Amino acid sequence: MEEFLKHFKNHSRAEQRWLSAVFEAVQQQLLPLIDASLGLSVSRLSLAVVSKVQTAGGSDTELPVSYRFVSVSELIRDQRTACCSSLRWSSAHYREQARGAELKLPGYKALPRDNLLLIGCLCDGQTAGTSDGVWRVRDAGGSLACAMLKSSCLWLGRLMLFPSWNYIPHNAPGAGYLELLEPPVCVTLEAMAFDPGGALSEVMSVTRAAEILRQRGEDQACVCVSGRVSVVCPLLVIRGKRFFCLVLSEEGSSVPVFITEAKHQYWRQCVCVGQSVWLSSLRVCSLQGLEGRRVLMDSCQSRLHLHLQNQESSEDPDTHTDSLTADTHTADTHTADTHLRSGTVSGSGPAVRVKRSTLISFKGTVTKILNAEAGLYEIDGQVGLCLAYQPTQKWGGGLRPGAEIQLHNVHFMYRASPFAPRVVLCACLRSSLQITAFSRLSSKVEVSGSHGPLQCLLLEKNLGASQYLWLCYCQNAVAERLCPRWVRAERVCVVAERLLDFVCDAEQKTQKERNIYREMIQEPHQCPVTTFCVWWPSAALWSLRQLSDWMRREVWASLSLASLLPASSAHMTALELNAALSWSVHKVPLTDASPEPLLLLGVLELDSTRATLQLRDQTHALDCLCVSAHQSGDRTAHISTAWQGCLVCVRRCTLVMERFMKTHFPSWKHLDQPSYITHKHCRVYLQLCVDDLTIISPSAAMSRCLMEDRQTDRESAKRPRAAERPLTPAACVSLLLRLESKQGVTLQNGSAAELRLQPGFVCRAVCLGDAQRWSHDPRNHRPQERERHGDAQKIELHFMGSCVRWFPVLHPGCVYRLIARNTEDVSVLKAKGVSAKGGVTQLSSPALLLQQQWRIHTITEELPDTQSGVPALMSVSAVLHSSSAPEIVSFCGIITQRITLKEDNGTKPKIQSLTAAEDASAEQDLRVRLTVQDADCPGHVIDVYVDLSCGPYTLGLIAGAMVSVHHVQRRVSKVCNVYCRSLPISCVSVTDLTSVCSRSGVAPSPPPMMLLGEWALGRVQRCVLAQVKGHVVCVLSLRLQWTCSLCGSIFRQASCGRTHPPCDSTSAVFQAEAKVVLEDGSADSHVWFSSDTVCDLLKLNAGQWEGLQRHVRVKGHVKVYTRGRNMTCDEDPDDTLVQYLSCLCSSTAVCRQIHLTCRLRAQRTGKSQLRKVHRGQTEFICKFTPALQLQCQHIHTR
Ligand SMILES: [Zn+2]
Ligand SMILES: [Zn+2]
Repeated sequence: MEEFLKHFKNHSRAEQRWLSAVFEAVQQQLLPLIDASLGLSVSRLSLAVVSKVQTAGGSDTELPVSYRFVSVSELIRDQRTACCSSLRWSSAHYREQARGAELKLPGYKALPRDNLLLIGCLCDGQTAGTSDGVWRVRDAGGSLACAMLKSSCLWLGRLMLFPSWNYIPHNAPGAGYLELLEPPVCVTLEAMAFDPGGALSEVMSVTRAAEILRQRGEDQACVCVSGRVSVVCPLLVIRGKRFFCLVLSEEGSSVPVFITEAKHQYWRQCVCVGQSVWLSSLRVCSLQGLEGRRVLMDSCQSRLHLHLQNQESSEDPDTHTDSLTADTHTADTHTADTHLRSGTVSGSGPAVRVKRSTLISFKGTVTKILNAEAGLYEIDGQVGLCLAYQPTQKWGGGLRPGAEIQLHNVHFMYRASPFAPRVVLCACLRSSLQITAFSRLSSKVEVSGSHGPLQCLLLEKNLGASQYLWLCYCQNAVAERLCPRWVRAERVCVVAERLLDFVCDAEQKTQKERNIYREMIQEPHQCPVTTFCVWWPSAALWSLRQLSDWMRREVWASLSLASLLPASSAHMTALELNAALSWSVHKVPLTDASPEPLLLLGVLELDSTRATLQLRDQTHALDCLCVSAHQSGDRTAHISTAWQGCLVCVRRCTLVMERFMKTHFPSWKHLDQPSYITHKHCRVYLQLCVDDLTIISPSAAMSRCLMEDRQTDRESAKRPRAAERPLTPAACVSLLLRLESKQGVTLQNGSAAELRLQPGFVCRAVCLGDAQRWSHDPRNHRPQERERHGDAQKIELHFMGSCVRWFPVLHPGCVYRLIARNTEDVSVLKAKGVSAKGGVTQLSSPALLLQQQWRIHTITEELPDTQSGVPALMSVSAVLHSSSAPEIVSFCGIITQRITLKEDNGTKPKIQSLTAAEDASAEQDLRVRLTVQDADCPGHVIDVYVDLSCGPYTLGLIAGAMVSVHHVQRRVSKVCNVYCRSLPISCVSVTDLTSVCSRSGVAPSPPPMMLLGEWALGRVQRCVLAQVKGHVVCVLSLRLQWTCSLCGSIFRQASCGRTHPPCDSTSAVFQAEAKVVLEDGSADSHVWFSSDTVCDLLKLNAGQWEGLQRHVRVKGHVKVYTRGRNMTCDEDPDDTLVQYLSCLCSSTAVCRQIHLTCRLRAQRTGKSQLRKVHRGQTEFICKFTPALQLQCQHIHTR
């Protein structure tokens, strides 16, 4: 130490201290590395170190005392954050550099600076026991991987000072690495001997070497080749053997050289495309993997010599600059030229365009890591880089944001995927990536040591670039929306793979078998990314939040008030108008929601507050109305309990948006003033068929169903059954039952413990046997014989509170297994007679109150003798006409119309728990009238009055939906019209959507054509709706009136006629009503025409109709009626308006042949009348059937 320090006698004490520290570090860390034969003492070595440090720091006299000597082990152990250190930089210089780098890439911080001195031996990893071609910095304490921009073979094994470097640590221990910003400086001074390893005189050109390779049989022991590197392939490990390949070129000839010796693997870091090199002692070998093709291979004695002087000028002439304009320009030219070579792959899906990619070189700056695990990066803010087809690089290969890179032989692809940048450069086994400047920015570094699952899939399935990019997009979406709640992190890739299988046909996905040797060296180059599919697969995966937001925007964007109103809207009073606007529906098929195909991905779950099935992901949950695909009554077509928990994908469904509005429009003239809308909200949900659900990941119950299906197939092939999955060991009891009927969900009184109202419903069921004990949960397994023993007892199942979630999966006629878990007591499933207050037993079947933790499983197996029991639903015409129809009826039909009934200010309980805050008040007291048409006889319609406010909202009650209406009260009006009214037990459920789902919106079939006589007599099966053709005999009466749109009084001139209390309304609507006698030869009938049809009846044009309205305005109203042969009026028979109307009504224009659709006003037409009829002198008394009372709905002929 003293010997060393005496060289620095004149230095300050601080400097002396620093020198002692250096001396100690050299003694501990560096001296053990030095070959003893060199005879270097600590003091000489320390002197050399100090002198090199001084030179590197740019000053021969001053000592850089602010720099601390750091050992490799210390760096690994203590340095937790990334940092940089440079002897050459002044503080000002560092700040300027840092600012410059930060400006280039906003959002990133520059690496913080640390003043550290790093000295160590450069080695190739063989000393550390690995020959992975990675250079390492080593001292006595340990070694650390490093990356360099350029390296020389001559540096290997030498003691070096590293003047400038970045240290990038990793979370994993010992996984950090160094980025050497500047070439290292040699500390020791031993001679740099150059050993060419063979006679240099025998150096041959590439052309000559290529000739030798072509001449088979001629044995050339050792070859020394000189040439320019045109291709550097990545390092590969095949069956544990590590190697890489480079191609030397010269004037049109090229020779591949395989570097296989472990000790030469570090050369991979030394060579780059464009460099001129000498390679000595190469052997000629034939490559087994490529039909015995002859290549050059290194030997033990091989040496690599680089022509350093050529390096700077050897930039590839065709390297693309990193300027953005140049890049877009190339993009265009490539499209133009590759269009010519594009073709299409035939498949069952839409034609997929396949294009060839072009090989290019490229220079740019990494701006973003898109997905390190998938090997996706962004260059220059707009170009994608895909490295997935190359072996994974350690520590991302230094590809941090801000790093400048140079790519050679990468595939240029334009529009390979809608989910990647337009231009993607894809590196394959022939491509090389070289960092030309390390990033000065700090960034998170993601370790990807071995192959990630995505890349494994890529190799396994031999994916093309377009499919791989889609897979990455899909993997991201799945991870973001379903992981970890439904999909475990390690399963994300499996789910993504299944989705890829779902969107791609097998033939479009699989490519030819790969041969890596051919991909690396064969000309012309052929590899999996030589071709790519343009913009395919293009299916976008929307999150449920995204879809829901789109629907909520769309529902109001598509709103056109005028289109919601019927043709008669001009004649509606404010009450009618606002009622008509209060509810409307907008339907969009999923395929129309976006120009690209859409896929929905989610988990099906049952929701307990709404009693609906929901499709859920981590972003949102959407209600689903799921119906069986066909009307065959096939039980398996229903949505069953097994669907619960299934991860499904939906490609086809209908997006339904129901709008609810509270409006106060005085009349239709004010529709353009949105201020009259005081409240609006919507309900959005999906309508889908079971067939449109594709299972991506089945629930346990569903996988058993699927397995069962497969087993049935196998059994038919007489093969033994596979063992079933082990069951969960937990004692439980079960009850097998068949559902007979299901009531609607309503608010009910809770149990004694819970006195408040809660949703609930009741099912009636038949037990198929006694309750059974199990040692494990049988779930939905095939029923055992013992479960069928016992009485077929009828019971009631009461579902309360959160148990109402089972509502959507319970269907009358299906068999279920009810399971109470964690108990061996069969009596828990024993139905008890309900004892009401005061010990009075109700007259009903024994009841069973479902417990929250109980489970229900649909049994899909057909059980013998269980088919009976469920009464078939009545048809609409049976309900209408059957005299023996019970008071409570259940029937099915098609909804043709839904009308919201005018609000009455009833005092229904408000159901806070059932109406989400957003639903607010618009759905309270919501009562609707559904017009339900008979599915087979379109002339038979029945009105069903449904109160939707007494339970969770019923989805899907829209025109066109096939519904089954359960347990409604059949009522007959005074005029014998039959209608139905919902009861608290009623349940309206949608069973088919085909007419709703189909894009064309099939119109309900027209009502039948009838003769009036036939219609009047047909008592048994009398139509409600029919078309008639007849002659207008006369107009019995015609009433024209201006009505105050607010109070309904007669409106004269400009004011309402009401005086007690006075009405200050300023808006009025014109209303008209006519009653005519229609005759068609078989009978007479009375037909009523209302406002909008009166104009057509009178055959007035728009101008005449308006003129008539103006005239009526003076008096407010006028009514003419037939008296004898003429028409008259009560007040002023001589009025010109009355005269005009009389003339008009008796004109041949009105009394004409006419074609109408009419609805029966009353089923009962009164008693037959006896009337006197004169014929000459004779008087007869005739019995006349009373005339049919009809309401005209539509005039077909004007
Ligand atoms: Zn390639
Ligand atoms: Zn009024």
